Amino acid sequence: MEKIIDETLQGTAVHVAKKETNTRNLYIESYGCQMNFSDSEIVASILAKEGFNTTQHLEEADLVLVNTCSIREKAELTVRKRLEKFNAVKQNRPHMKVGVLGCMAERLKSKLLEEEKIVDMVVGPDAYKDLPNLVQEIDEGKNAVNVILSKEESYGVVAPVRLNSNGVTAFVSITRGCDNMCTFCVVPFTRGRERSRDPQSIIEEVNDLWTKGYREITLLGQNVDSYLWYGGGLKKDYTKASDMQKATAVNFANLLEQVALAQPKMRIRFSTSNPQDMTLDVIHTMAKYTNICNYVHLPVQSGSNRILKEMNRLHTREEYFELIDNIKRIIPDIAISQDMITGFPTETEEDHQDTLSLMTYVKYDYGFMFAYSERPGTMAARKLEDDVPQETKKRRLSEIIALQRQHCQEKTEQHLGQVQEVLIEGLSKKSDAHFMGRNSQNTVAVFPKEDYKVGDFVMVRMNSCTSATLIGEAVGYSEN
Ligand code: SAM
Repeated sequence: MEKIIDETLQGTAVHVAKKETNTRNLYIESYGCQMNFSDSEIVASILAKEGFNTTQHLEEADLVLVNTCSIREKAELTVRKRLEKFNAVKQNRPHMKVGVLGCMAERLKSKLLEEEKIVDMVVGPDAYKDLPNLVQEIDEGKNAVNVILSKEESYGVVAPVRLNSNGVTAFVSITRGCDNMCTFCVVPFTRGRERSRDPQSIIEEVNDLWTKGYREITLLGQNVDSYLWYGGGLKKDYTKASDMQKATAVNFANLLEQVALAQPKMRIRFSTSNPQDMTLDVIHTMAKYTNICNYVHLPVQSGSNRILKEMNRLHTREEYFELIDNIKRIIPDIAISQDMITGFPTETEEDHQDTLSLMTYVKYDYGFMFAYSERPGTMAARKLEDDVPQETKKRRLSEIIALQRQHCQEKTEQHLGQVQEVLIEGLSKKSDAHFMGRNSQNTVAVFPKEDYKVGDFVMVRMNSCTSATLIGEAVGYSEN
């Protein structure tokens, strides 16, 4: 199967161990990207100090929060459907309050209160530290809104509680917001301008995770390669930084190295990379440290130079190929994945063929593929007519998915016969007698449990596979 956004995670209610002194129940559900799931951990941490335990049962909630996504129209429709469900539950629990968090909250602001009568509270992604005040307001029977976007907020001082954790892998946010202004994308409007988190607090979080038994972290941001710490503040204001700030600035390659050295046994991944910002330094750092996984998520969105320009992606197809060639030269066993949008305004059959030929050149290991969805307020919505018929979008999408599926199969088969290090994350979905984990390239592997345990690094001989899962047998512990 092609890899698309993990639908099984969408809408998951998150849950952590109860604190005896807490008296109220928080039900928090998350949609969209990994950043949102990571933000929900920050929210749960803030509200744990306000007397809330998490629950996975909507019917016993005193406060229901839904952390939302605006990236495509469908994501917003899903949330509106959930609000209907919350409304039904509220009939039997009149004291229950409902808050909308995240990108949809930021996009619609107080309009959400007017449109969705069930909603008591609307909180944008930079306002979570204000939740104690906002909750107090709704407790007093008022509606509460905070959608102020910040120049500074990176939640560096909030130690997230790990929700629904396997205890082995964790996300660590390193940047917030995005300055790219891709014409299709709502993120700069919902998550604000780009800012980076203090490397010291990142390292402290990683060290703490190691001590708690975590063995893999994913550094998270909309555009991680653009990470730049110069003492705080927006990325765009770096030009105004002092000479001292510039001389001691930390970029993504530096940060990656610091994290790799701080915890040499911890596996490190990162997401998302943007081709225009990914430097050779980053690739060399990946090659230098064995604990940085050989996997890069490098969205391209289209294979056509004309469409890339219309999307305001600041690179050409040829520059992308150069980057891919460099990555494969420096790290030959790298796995690469993509995001692709099909049916962007004005996309012709020729543009679509360019996308297919780009995919054939790169041969991605995985792909996340979407039909273009016009988002209000974006440059594309303002300047370009959404003129590719739905049927055509669908057909082109199915063609790129079919090609990706073929590549995925070929790429998975390349691991066969090898003995690779796998970090055990938990039980296989299909069998309690098997563990599942991932190799460095992020391919899922399943194998008989024997005496191994979750969190172990084991060497697995890859004997057979489906299109995206390796099936093997453990041959011993990893020496790493
Ligand atoms: N920051 C990353 C980047 O720029 O590559 C990822 C941003 S977004 C959260 C994840 C993916 O959603 C994008 O890479 C893109 O493929 C897709 N996406 C964003 N806006 C979209 C839109 N209006 N319609 C369809 N897909 C969209």
